[in-house]
Amino acid sequence: METTVIIGNGVAGTTAAATLRRNGYEGTIKLIGEEAALPYQRPPLSKAWLLDSDRPKPTPLRPLSFYEDNRIDLMRARKVAKIDTNERRIFFSDGKTTKFDNLILATGAAPRRLDLKGPT
Ligand SMILES: Cc1cc2nc3c(=O)[nH]c(=O)nc-3n(C[C@H](O)[C@H](O)[C@H](O)COP(=O)(O)OP(=O)(O)OC[C@H]3O[C@@H](n4cnc5c(N)ncnc54)[C@H](O)[C@@H]3O)c2cc1C
Repeated sequence: METTVIIGNGVAGTTAAATLRRNGYEGTIKLIGEEAALPYQRPPLSKAWLLDSDRPKPTPLRPLSFYEDNRIDLMRARKVAKIDTNERRIFFSDGKTTKFDNLILATGAAPRRLDLKGPT
């Protein structure tokens, strides 16, 4: 059985997993993310915070049943530390590994501070 590993379970990774299944992909799908929470929508968080709530509740992108129904192995609170593309294997930060046939990188982006005077 073919295995597709998706690193990153934000909206991009979750949509990739859902699209594979919608288009009839039958292989194993492993959807990996660093966070322990169910994959959630980011944009509403800042709006809720600006309006009133100092601890806005994240809205899940999909219910847990979606991942179960679509045979998507949701691997939460798992950090990928290394990818070996020759061996087609990823290494988690705890030393465990998993193999893949196809790999999708959906790790998003993080803001980078400019090394300039002025911004704090
Ligand atoms: C508070 C907030 C408000 C926003 N508001 C808006 C808005 O109003 N309009 C708009 O257009 N955009 C907004 N954005 C930006 C938008 O949410 C992002 O563009 C979008 O989330 C990007 O999705 P993504 O799946 O590509 O990446 P991300 O959502 O960043 O997901 C990447 C995932 O990869 C995982 N990951 C990364 N590295 C590893 C690793 N080594 N091992 C395992 N997992 C890893 C992370 O855990 C994360 O879950 C907002 C973002 C935030 C945070």
